[in-house]
Amino acid sequence: MSVQKCPICSAAVEPSARYWDYICIDCSARAVDEFGRKLRFRNESFSGGFVAWYEDTNERRDSQICYIDGVKCWADEARMGGIVIRVYGGKE
Ligand SMILES: [Zn+2]
Repeated sequence: MSVQKCPICSAAVEPSARYWDYICIDCSARAVDEFGRKLRFRNESFSGGFVAWYEDTNERRDSQICYIDGVKCWADEARMGGIVIRVYGGKE
């Protein structure tokens, strides 16, 4: 079985067949918007959903796009709960 790596920093991550290109927690913590403002993500409720907001103002952001180290990424609700961030345009 091959080792799965974070596409941003190449750190080894827990292998996932569904999310084969997901971004590690350390990189996810560096997610910013197109202007460099820090973003946070969480589920809308215990049953899932997706919420993005700005860390500085707690203002909600109506987009799932984020940038990590200049790489355009897409944050979404993970199938098994939690949030998964992947490089934008990654294969479904
Ligand atoms: Zn990483």
